[in-house]
Formats: sequence, structure tokens, C-alpha cells
Amino acid sequence: MRVLVIGAGVGGLCLAQGLLKAGIDVRIYEREPGVDSRYQGFRIGLGGAGLDALRACLPQRLHALLEASTGEIAGERVMVDQQLKVIGRLGAMYGGMATDRHVLRHLLLAGLKERIEFGKRLVEYVEQADGTVTAVFADGSTATGDLLVGADGVGSPVRRQLLPHAEVVALDGRAVLGRTPLTDRFARLVPGFGTIVRGSEVSVLLGRMEFRRPPHLAAAELAPDVELPAAGSYVRWVMFLPEGTGELPDDGWAQTRELLLKLVDGWHPDLVELIRQSDVVNSSTLTARYAKPVPHWGSRRVTLLGDAIHVMPPSGGKGANTAFRDAALLCRRLTEVERGEAELLTAVERYEREMLDHGFAAVAESLEKLPAFTSRPVEPAPNPVEPAPNAGGRQRDAAEPAAEADERAMRASTR
Ligand SMILES: Cc1cc2nc3c(=O)[nH]c(=O)nc-3n(C[C@H](O)[C@H](O)[C@H](O)COP(=O)(O)OP(=O)(O)OC[C@H]3O[C@@H](n4cnc5c(N)ncnc54)[C@H](O)[C@@H]3O)c2cc1C
Repeated sequence: MRVLVIGAGVGGLCLAQGLLKAGIDVRIYEREPGVDSRYQGFRIGLGGAGLDALRACLPQRLHALLEASTGEIAGERVMVDQQLKVIGRLGAMYGGMATDRHVLRHLLLAGLKERIEFGKRLVEYVEQADGTVTAVFADGSTATGDLLVGADGVGSPVRRQLLPHAEVVALDGRAVLGRTPLTDRFARLVPGFGTIVRGSEVSVLLGRMEFRRPPHLAAAELAPDVELPAAGSYVRWVMFLPEGTGELPDDGWAQTRELLLKLVDGWHPDLVELIRQSDVVNSSTLTARYAKPVPHWGSRRVTLLGDAIHVMPPSGGKGANTAFRDAALLCRRLTEVERGEAELLTAVERYEREMLDHGFAAVAESLEKLPAFTSRPVEPAPNPVEPAPNAGGRQRDAAEPAAEADERAMRASTR
């Protein structure tokens, strides 16, 4: 059996790792010219079933490198005002790990060099009379296999062809995602799990992506055949803009940053400097989208995985975690086919029904959390805010990824 995976995002690569481990022939086709052609290094919180699924797909020899090239998400969550005066303590959170999407993609490419082709933009697929499926690329080339998996993200051409009626809704984006290199000065802003800064008009969530070890050095020692980038640690921050901010400049981050600096005028110098020192390449506006549920579409030799089928807003911290669950599940089903225990179409349908259930449950959960995640700040409370119900050193269920916990803190802040 040959599986064609369209898209080398974290979901498609995780699937490819799992299939490789199971001895199934897999080929990956990615539209971008290389893994470094577009830097997308934001922090992703991993936990629970998603992290288990990622580990299940990765070969055992890479587990130590995964651990070493990620960071901890743990400790106290505090709320401060714009002068950094603590106005609330929201309890501690433990469990899970923070990873950087760019670093993780490199890790997930380990051992796949012979199986991946970059610069291959899928334009359509053709289901052949003999039961195979052919991918057609923009450069005129084709590839044929027994199953084609669209892991091609929110704009998925595979989904558009397979499910032209499926709807993806763009939410009004009034947030900005920033990234600032971690220094001692900025590390003090995020002493634990995360910090919420509540200004009178603007609120900012701060999280730390502090690699346990520089990823490239960890790779050199633990798995010398794997090339990880020399990524530096950073503070990732999300700023929720006040209503009426208007359109953000579309001529680059430098102009957007000027607008943000006006919004934080008079704030504590460390916070102003955090915005000023934000990385021009890795900061951007944030548009959240979500997919409307679709019923099962009948058995085909074409299926979908991750954001391609159930994109969700980042408020739940579940998008990548759910893509990993899809990948591990599809691997298990295809392994049964490889062993002669199931028919391909039956196995794919079983995968799809389960994936649709857990995928759209995650979309619903993320949407439910969205208002609290994006709501404008209220006037700072005169007294320290009551600790969240789970405060007091609760051990965070590893199933609760980072952004979810950020959201919980955010919700507490807006009560
Ligand atoms: C700011 C932010 C924070 C987030 N935080 C979290 C978090 O804490 N926890 C969490 O679980 N999730 C988080 N997410 C969500 C997570 O990043 C996504 O759900 C995840 O990256 C989806 O992976 P994917 O492989 O399905 O799609 P993608 O990563 O989008 O990959 C799709 C790939 O397909 C390729 N492609 C597209 N079209 C074609 C084509 N025609 N031909 C060939 N290739 C194609 C693309 O170039 C891309 O490489 C966050 C997202 C954002 C934006």
C-alpha cells in the first residue's frame, strides 16, 4: 500500500512518521520550496491525547530529542496591571510541554528526506478506475497511490474538491501575535506558566518558549542525523486590540508595531520594550477561523486530516493536538490494512467517523472558549482577583494544553 500525504505541516509529517514506523510506503508532497522557506515559529502547547499521539508516531529514538527541544509550561499564573503591579494570582499549572512549530517540523522530517518532495503544489486529484488515486501538481507532474490524505491545512484544495460544500468561517481578527527574543529582563515578566497584563483598553497574554536546550545542540548530541534550527528562546505574546482600532496596516510588521506602541504608551518600560523589540519576521496579525461540521461523505480513497477538515480557533489550544490524534488514529487503521486485518475503504471510514467526532468536538470546545479568549478587558479590579477554582497548586491534567490554560486564566481575568 502506498499513501500520498499532501502537506508537510505538523499533522502530515506526524502521519508520515507513524506510517514509516509501521513499515507502510508513504510519500509527502509540500507546496513550499523548502522547510525553511516561510518561517512560522510560534509556540504550540502540547498535552494529553495529542502529545501521546505524537509520541506514538515518532520512533522511540527521537523521544529524548523531542523532550530536549521543547520547553516547560508550568508554574504560577499571575495577572498584573500595566505598571506590572500584581492584581491577581490564578493558581499554578503543571503538565504538558511547549514546542515551537518551526523546530517541531524539522524534528518531524527526520528520516523522511527520501520520501518528501518540496515545491509540489497539488491542484487536483483523480480517482482512477483501477482503484488508485493520482495527485496532480501545479508543475504538471503526478503521483499515484492507494490512498491520498489531504493534510494541506485550512485552505485545503483536497477538501475543496472532496467536500465543496464544507464551510470555513473567518472570525473578526482583532488580535496580534508577537514574538520577542527572551532576555533576563523579559523572563521576569513571565515567572511561571503565564502572565496576563490588563490595561484599561488593551490586554496582553504573555507566555515563555524557553527551549530546555538549544535545539541544534540537542540534536547534535542526541540524534546527529537530525538537523534542528538554532532557534533562540522567546516570549510569545498575544495582544487583544480594542474595538474600533480599525484596519491594521498591511505594509509590514514595523508599521503595526508603531500602532501597538501607541496603545501601550505610558505602560511599564519593560512592557513597552517587549513590544518594541518584537521580531519583525515572526510577528503578525492573527486571523482565527473555524470549520462548520460536515457529515460523513462515504468511503473514498481520499481523506482529510488536521486543519484541512476541522480548523479551529487557537482559543482551545487543540488544533495541533487534534491533528496528532488524527494522524495516530489513521496510522492504526492503516496498519490493520497492511496486516490484512481490514479492507482499506472500511478502515478509512472507521478513521473518518472517529476523527469527525473528536475533531468537531474540539472545534466546538474552542469556539465556546473564544469569547473569553478575545473579550476586551474590564476595568482593573480594586482588590486582588479571587483565585481561579483550580488554584492552589492543582496538577494540570496533561490533556489540557497551554493555550487552554491561558484561556482559563483569561476567563478568570474578565469575570
Ligand atoms: C497563534 C497560534 C497558536 C496556536 N497554538 C496552538 C496550541 O497551543 N496547541 C495546539 O494544539 N494548536 C495550536 N495552534 C493550531 C496549530 O498550529 C494547527 O492546528 C496545526 O498547525 C495544524 O496542522 P496541519 O498539519 O493540519 O496544517 P498546517 O500546519 O497548516 O500544514 C498544512 C501544510 O500543507 C501545505 N499545503 C497547503 N496547500 C498545499 C497544496 N496545494 N499542495 C501541497 N501542500 C500544500 C502547507 O504549505 C502546509 O505546510 C495554534 C495556531 C496558531 C495560529
